[in-house]
Amino acid sequence: MTCSVDNSNKLAFIDDALTERAKMGHLRTLQSLIPQNAVSVVKNGQTLLNFSSNDYLGLSKHPALIKGGQEYLNRYGTGATASRLVVGTYDIHQQLEEKLAKLCGKEAALLFNTGFQANSTIIPALVDKKSLVLCDRLSHNSILQGILLSGARWTRYKHNDLGHLDTLLKKGISQGYNRILIATETVFSMEGDQSDVDGLINLSQKYNTLLYLDDAHALGIMGEQGMGLTAYKSGIDISIGTFGKAFGSFGAFITASKQMCNYLINCCPGFIYTTALPPAIIGAINAALDLIPTLDKERSYLRQQVNYLQNNLRKLGYQVINSDSPIIPVIIGDETKALKLSQYLEKYKILATAIRPPTVPPNTSRIRLVLSSQHTKEQINYLIDILKKWHEH
Ligand SMILES: *Cc1c(COP(=O)(O)O)cnc(C)c1O
Repeated sequence: MTCSVDNSNKLAFIDDALTERAKMGHLRTLQSLIPQNAVSVVKNGQTLLNFSSNDYLGLSKHPALIKGGQEYLNRYGTGATASRLVVGTYDIHQQLEEKLAKLCGKEAALLFNTGFQANSTIIPALVDKKSLVLCDRLSHNSILQGILLSGARWTRYKHNDLGHLDTLLKKGISQGYNRILIATETVFSMEGDQSDVDGLINLSQKYNTLLYLDDAHALGIMGEQGMGLTAYKSGIDISIGTFGKAFGSFGAFITASKQMCNYLINCCPGFIYTTALPPAIIGAINAALDLIPTLDKERSYLRQQVNYLQNNLRKLGYQVINSDSPIIPVIIGDETKALKLSQYLEKYKILATAIRPPTVPPNTSRIRLVLSSQHTKEQINYLIDILKKWHEH
């Protein structure tokens, strides 16, 4: 007897979802690139000037990081062979954690495999169904995933509006939650603007809440010795840093108290049940960590170029979000128009991706320009020229 199963019906939801996306103009596809150097890539045989990567200091192609990675690779092999609690903690993992803690002015540090993994698994280790989480409206998706997984009650406060957060906290403490957690980014990945770290610390202390700050986009380019906006500050329970951005590599870490790290080593599944970061990555991060405190000149050049580009774009009539970070979103509004501008730029050999809903709120589609200390003044002027042309065409 044959048994027929209707496979097409079983998978109909996939077709529906993709068709729906396509109809809305939201269907996303991957583009294949070959990197040339810190600021250029080859796409379809054409060399493009890259204004979209998070490689703020160009470290992903830096000889010292490549050498650092190679050294550890040669000495320790390609894999860490197990999770941290089994046999995946090498001396180099612990040395790196000690170095990170020291440079950030914190008691301890703990490596995580990615920022996404850290946010989505640490938050559920901190709060549960009986807790309240208050997060910024524009928080990164990985923070939201962590909150959803925790089962906690949650509310988003208006973007960077600490008055609104204060109101929600006042209400929250009267409602009998076991714990309240404030979670936000320090530099917002799609806006480039910053949160008021001292203000958040004050509120957290005023209401005796946990404070969780994601410093992914500040690390390497802001704060003392480039160690981020949370470095050397007390009153933050957990700071998240990632190595995939200014560190030019891969992975993530937290800084916290020794006790908090011990807690996560025991109670955070995203730390426990995953293979430790591989030696080559640890070598590259270690080399970046030696380099980053010495890059004040690059950081100040970068800041100057950010101001220069923002001012020029405003002069051309573009709506540019005010920020001190190398993330410079040019708000276009309409999705189709943002896409068209991105395609226009590509015609002139500039790679600048359009960011559209659901990544950003409706009607705020944008070109997210990102500067690196490796962009020359000539390259930035070229970008300005092409954006001027678009305005006039
Ligand atoms: C990039 C980013 C992450 C994710 O980090 P990965 O290491 O790339 O997974 C988390 N939080 C913020 C704010 C980010 O910008």
